[in-house]
Amino acid sequence: MLERGDRIYLSSPHMSGLEQQYISEAFETNWIAPLGKNVDCFEKELATYVGSEGAVALSSGTAAIHLALILLNVGKGDIVFCSSLTFVASANPILYQGATPVFIDSEPETWNMSPEALKRALKDYAAKGQKPKAVIVVNLYGQSADYDRIKSICDEYEVPIVEDAAESLGASYRDKKSGTIGKFGVFSFNGNKIITTSGGGMLVSDDANLLSKARFYATQAKDPARHYQHSHIGFNYRMSNVLAGIGRGQLQVLDERVARKREIFNFYCESLSVVEGLSFMPDSIHGISTRWLTAMLIDPDKVKVTSSEVVDHLERYNIESRPVWKPLHLQPLFKDAVYYPNGETDVSRQLFERGICLPSDTKMSQRSELLVVEGIFDLIHR
Ligand SMILES: *Cc1c(COP(=O)(O)O)cnc(C)c1O
Repeated sequence: MLERGDRIYLSSPHMSGLEQQYISEAFETNWIAPLGKNVDCFEKELATYVGSEGAVALSSGTAAIHLALILLNVGKGDIVFCSSLTFVASANPILYQGATPVFIDSEPETWNMSPEALKRALKDYAAKGQKPKAVIVVNLYGQSADYDRIKSICDEYEVPIVEDAAESLGASYRDKKSGTIGKFGVFSFNGNKIITTSGGGMLVSDDANLLSKARFYATQAKDPARHYQHSHIGFNYRMSNVLAGIGRGQLQVLDERVARKREIFNFYCESLSVVEGLSFMPDSIHGISTRWLTAMLIDPDKVKVTSSEVVDHLERYNIESRPVWKPLHLQPLFKDAVYYPNGETDVSRQLFERGICLPSDTKMSQRSELLVVEGIFDLIHR
């Protein structure tokens, strides 16, 4: 009954049709350049959407994290705390700066940074007379971390938060939009994100002075002189005017995309939670998740298949799925890094071992959703 059909994607670009007018305008005015009207407008439109003082459009989310660390004066030998359960891009910029990452476990309630583990880590380092230059808090799979607790702990130790909201554009935390709680917020418009510019990112903040410094570093750090003069290391990190045009068209359908992602999550949840041993990433009580990717847990004591077998099985039907992010403290790249688990159990390791992300493509049909569910039933009921 199940057949191999057209590929069903995890999360692929979904154009609205509005993008083309902005791209055409860039072509007609010959602004095929970094910077231009689309870049200015995209920054203003995104800042208005999330409610931040300003925004800087960049070539990637990774570049945005890197600039945030530079603006927080992270340098050689400094310590930066970071969520462990995330994509490597959250932590790579720590290495770019020659700093040392310390990884913090997840809490079971949100799968995001454990306030308990964070508190323990800050206390330990304070006892040694040390403190991190920044804490990078990731909002996993579209869900905000528990900022009431995380922020009050960070405020107590006077450590700034960089909010990695690459996966949570469109989500909220209480009455604020995701990405606006930390000193800096970071978004990504990579091809698999909820809206895309094919590749790109955004740095947001309420500190206009720091944002203008971000623009300075993102355009090769030119001193104010007619001749080319440089006193600082700069980067070529700006978003192009053509790609910003795609972003303007995408931003207009962001709320629709969020609604559709949540609908897909709800369908999986209703169809699969009936099976004992299958459960889903919990809904935080503090805000609304975008459900960028639906993440499901398989309890090996109750369901006799592993997440890896599910990925292989779905692949037979041309359905793309993947394990939950492999925690960074388990990566060869960070094998020497210090790690603070939530408590007795290593929560992020357990989520990795049991978790799987299901296709959450906003273009997918209801029939495709059903195929994914049938594919999973097909495997677990053999
Ligand atoms: C995608 C992603 C990034 C990096 O964004 P790019 O635009 O691909 O550089 C950073 N952090 C997280 C959590 C992500 O999912």
